[in-house]
This record gives sequence, structure tokens and C-alpha cells, in this order.
Amino acid sequence: MSYALTEEQQLIQQSAREFTREYIEPIATEMDRTGIHPSAVVQQMAEHDFLGLYLPEEFGGTEAGYLSYVLIIEEISRMSGAVASILINHASLAAYTMYRFGSAVQKQECLPALCSGEKLAAFALTEPGAAPGVGSHKVIATKEGDHYVLNGHKCYVANGGVADIYVVFALTNPEAGAKGMSAFIVDAKAAGLSIQRTIGKMGLRGCQSAELIFENVMVPQSNLLGAAGAGMKIVKEAQLVASVAEGAQVVGIAQAAMEDAVKYGKQRVQFGRPIAAFPAIQTMLAEMATHIHIARLAVYDAASLIEKGEDFMKEAAMVKLFTGRIGQSALIDVIQIEGGYGYSQEMIASRFYRDIKGAVITESSAAFPEKVIADDLLA
Ligand SMILES: Cc1cc2nc3c(=O)[nH]c(=O)nc-3n(C[C@H](O)[C@H](O)[C@H](O)COP(=O)(O)OP(=O)(O)OC[C@H]3O[C@@H](n4cnc5c(N)ncnc54)[C@H](O)[C@@H]3O)c2cc1C
Repeated sequence: MSYALTEEQQLIQQSAREFTREYIEPIATEMDRTGIHPSAVVQQMAEHDFLGLYLPEEFGGTEAGYLSYVLIIEEISRMSGAVASILINHASLAAYTMYRFGSAVQKQECLPALCSGEKLAAFALTEPGAAPGVGSHKVIATKEGDHYVLNGHKCYVANGGVADIYVVFALTNPEAGAKGMSAFIVDAKAAGLSIQRTIGKMGLRGCQSAELIFENVMVPQSNLLGAAGAGMKIVKEAQLVASVAEGAQVVGIAQAAMEDAVKYGKQRVQFGRPIAAFPAIQTMLAEMATHIHIARLAVYDAASLIEKGEDFMKEAAMVKLFTGRIGQSALIDVIQIEGGYGYSQEMIASRFYRDIKGAVITESSAAFPEKVIADDLLA
């Protein structure tokens, strides 16, 4: 890895690697089987300062930068894509939204608890039948005095049911479609907010996904995040920031899967030779190693732009597009290399395959990320 990481970044990377061996490796397979949220691991992540790693110290964070944060995501993903998803939804989507668009009071009230692990956060955008950006959302926030009243149905909310705080997107001006969407901070204990069901997923099991029902949920006007009607702008930025972390997640999963295939290829003997000696196997390994290397550089580059406060939109979208393609193809080749065993549930490749697909679909609404890149080119 030739990207110039500082000594501090390398230490953070090393400590994350040790963390995953100590706390995640012992539970990863069982968590995939049961799908149960690993609250003890989340608490350990808090104690290791992972939850607020890139947020400023004044809000309880460590201020280590977004690149250090994605290094942690990559390391965690090598052991468990699900734990990485818990962290991404908490830190890159919900906490980021509050940090970037929250008022001074909102930041002081919410962020320290999110950094310390006292509270876990989630990002509730998706709805049954709604596509981000085209204005078909149906959760409505009606202004009544100094409150908004939220009604409707959100689905696929990661950390749903275990989160203490939700960033919820709702229409404050339904006639304006997507332009009438706003963001709110909603307490999970708010009266009228309930979990309809948790969603059984094929991968990323342990990062609980839930459907949320809002029935006359009273949200104080002071919990409006950013301006009324700014919802889609907030969604776009938060999803792109999260895309870089999800790129690191894909790189971490693909790297671990490739290392497994290399080990298997050296051990598995066919026609009197280890299969790793066959050119066809070597070509697959060489291609995936190249793709993973280039993807990692793109992830680190986009993370550095976010950290420096520079424009990162196009680069983040490129990370989402590229890592999605190479991550899935790497896992198909890993399973091919490991043959029938690779396809069995006994091998770790099947979990990596299921997890990487989830990481790729998240934040992949219709014309995203291709549209972001094309818009930049054609501007
Ligand atoms: C593991 C996981 C975790 C998630 N976590 C969250 C979360 O925490 N919060 C949240 O709000 N959401 C979450 N989601 C939802 C996720 O963001 C959406 O599933 C994703 O954005 C894709 O949207 P969709 O499911 O509505 O698919 P759709 O937009 O319906 O797309 C379905 C298919 O149709 C294609 N398609 C759609 N429109 C077009 C078009 N115009 N032209 C051509 N093709 C088209 C798409 O490319 C795709 O292949 C999560 C999803 C997953 C898988």
C-alpha cells in the first residue's frame, strides 16, 4: 500500500486491526447466523473512540480525520461487514448530518452522546415505493404550533429498533415534491413512533434493519435539521459521505475474501499441483488484487478531500460506482477459485459475498452515483 499514511493513521489502522481480532472475530460467524445486534461490540467501539473518530473534540469526538475513520471501517469490514454498517449508519449518515446541518444547540445536545456511545443513531430515508430524489415520499410532517406532526412509514432503516435517535426525512411541503422534504431529529422514545418489524436480510446480518411507523409523532420545531425544504440537499451530501465509508467497507471485505482465496489456492491440489499454480487462477487473483488496490486509493483520496473540507462529491460518487463493480466481481471470482467449497456455508466466502452485495446496494438509488459524475462532467 503506497498511499502516504501518517504515523498516526498507521497506528489507528493497527489498533483497529487488533480491535477486530479481540472483539469481532470471536462473534462474527455466530452474529451472521443469528442476526442479533452486537451491543457489546458497539460499546467497545465507543470505548475505543471509533464512534466519533472524525468529529471535532468540542462535540466529544477525537478529531482524527475522515481518512483515519475509513481506515477503521476497512479493518472492521475485513472481519465483519455488519459491524462496519452499524458504524457507518451511526457516524457517516446520522451523526454527519447533525454535525453538518445541525444548529449549535442541536450539535451540543446530540453529538457528545453519539461520540461516547451513550446513544446510537440511524438514518431513516427509504420508504416503501419511494425513490430518493423523485418526490414520491409519503411520510409527512405537518406544522402545528411549535411542533411538527409526523405520519407515515419508513423501511430498511439500519440500526432501526436499536437506535436511540433517528434522523428522519419527511415532507413539510408535499406539493413541492422532493423540494418539500425536510430533515428532523427524532427521539426513538417519541410517542407514536414504533417498530413494525425487523427485516431479515441475506447479508450484513447483525446490523439490524427495521420498518418504522410514525403515528402522530410530535417533533419540536427546534428538532428541524437545517432549513425547511433542505432535505434532498442533506440526503445527497450525507449519502456521498457515507459512500466513501461504504467504499472502504467493500475494499475491506474484498481484501479479506481475496486473502482467503490465496490461502485456499495454495492448499487445494488438483492434477498434482496447487490450483494457485494454474494461470486461470492467477489471472483472477491478479485482476482482483489490482482492482482492490485502485479502489483503496480512490477511497483514501475521497476521504482526504472530505477531511480537508474540499469538494468531494464527484470523487465520492466514483468510489461508490467503482467499488460496487469491482467488489462484486471479486467475490464471484473468490467463490469460483474456492469451487464447491467456496459455495458452501462452511467457507467464509459465502458471508463475504452476501455482505458485499448489501454494501453495494445501500445508497444506490436509481440515477446515483452515475448522475452525480455525469452532472459534474456536463456542467
Ligand atoms: C443493507 C441495506 C441497508 C440499508 N440501510 C438503509 C438505511 O439505514 N436508511 C434508509 O433510508 N435506507 C436504507 N437502505 C435502503 C437503500 O438505501 C435503498 O435500498 C437503495 O437506495 C436502493 O433503493 P430502492 O431499494 O428503492 O431500489 P429502487 O430505486 O427501487 O431500484 C431497484 C432497481 O431498479 C433500478 N432502477 C430504479 N429506477 C430506475 C430508473 N429510473 N432507470 C433504470 N433503473 C432503475 C435500480 O437500479 C435497481 O436495480 C438500505 C438498503 C440495504 C440493502
